[in-house]
Amino acid sequence: METSDRALAMHFLCGDRDYDDDTALTPALSQSLNYRILGPDHYEEISAPMTPNFYARRGNPNSQRLARLLAAAEGVEEGMIFASGMAAISTTMMALLQAGDHVVAQTDHYIGTNEMTNTVLPSYGVESTVVDQTSVEAFERAIRPNTKLIMLETPANPLMTVTDLSAVAALARDRGILTFCDNTFATPINQRPASHGVDIVMHSISKYIGGHHDLLGGAVLSSREIMERIWDRSMVLGSAGAPFNSWLALRGLRTLELRIERHNANALALAEMLDTHSAVSRVFYPGLATHPQHELARRQMSGFGGLLTFELKGGLEAGRRFIERLTVPDNASSLGGVNSVVMQPAALFGNRLSEDDLRKQGIAPGMIRFATGIEPTGALLEDVGQALS
Ligand SMILES: *Cc1c(COP(=O)(O)O)cnc(C)c1O
Repeated sequence: METSDRALAMHFLCGDRDYDDDTALTPALSQSLNYRILGPDHYEEISAPMTPNFYARRGNPNSQRLARLLAAAEGVEEGMIFASGMAAISTTMMALLQAGDHVVAQTDHYIGTNEMTNTVLPSYGVESTVVDQTSVEAFERAIRPNTKLIMLETPANPLMTVTDLSAVAALARDRGILTFCDNTFATPINQRPASHGVDIVMHSISKYIGGHHDLLGGAVLSSREIMERIWDRSMVLGSAGAPFNSWLALRGLRTLELRIERHNANALALAEMLDTHSAVSRVFYPGLATHPQHELARRQMSGFGGLLTFELKGGLEAGRRFIERLTVPDNASSLGGVNSVVMQPAALFGNRLSEDDLRKQGIAPGMIRFATGIEPTGALLEDVGQALS
């Protein structure tokens, strides 16, 4: 790990000590819906944007504390916590876009983001174009005079493609277009998009930041000016996060660096083992030297994350048998917590989508998505080894 990540670990452990004058070692949980108003001057103060002590739709002390720690970690001024990652994405887009505007997004995004840019925004008169995120030229060609926002996500499912953040951010900045990056899979430990020039950073804190499969939440982090616009829209949409989920996420943040270090190590060891295994045809992991964008990933990431995909030569049936025989990972769809989670997209989506449709999304019948947990590396590899044999 680089020194900067150690500094980040210290920030998450001790960076909020002077946020309140409570002498407790851990933050109090503040479930209050509303707060007393001590007079007209106090009202002015507490009703300002993003203050946490007026009414819970406007914010709460636990969410503010979490947002501040995350914003500082990502190197931006302000943040806001939302009810979910999708609440964070949809509120941000509805705050920054209006009918007649145009958005550029990637072909590969989290499924809800695809739905938002490809279906929901057009239904409100916002046009969108999706591009192959491995090509900076494709982003440039897609830009129109009315382009207001470029949506980014890296690395992205299912093929773990990497987007060149510095190059796309520079293109956008020259033209006055905002860039918005979903940094959920990398976390600030492995990648800090704002340091590459991205304007707005987003996390589903339901994943690695929460880290224990027990909370739903989202975060948006940006400049004060942009956050005020997003906060303003969230007042109407009612998308603010709940105190208890932020309190849990704050606890998750204390161990984020430790956990990510193990997630990274487990995924790299597993990718290397699978890469030479006779039952496996292809492995997609940005940390492998054989990944087509490995050099770019090394430039913009300090670790390669806990998520990888691979294809079993035996197809659909081999995938089913593999998952059945595993004893350590759970077969589930959400990821980012302490336990390894595995799923076979073609087996789950096969009832709804034809093999052709799946292939168009890069999903082969024998493809497995593996999100490594923080189990001891040897135990995890041993279990995968026996399930493959
Ligand atoms: C899960 C996820 C989301 C959506 O987050 P929710 O908290 O489930 O709403 C967005 N982006 C990525 C990359 C995700 O993995």
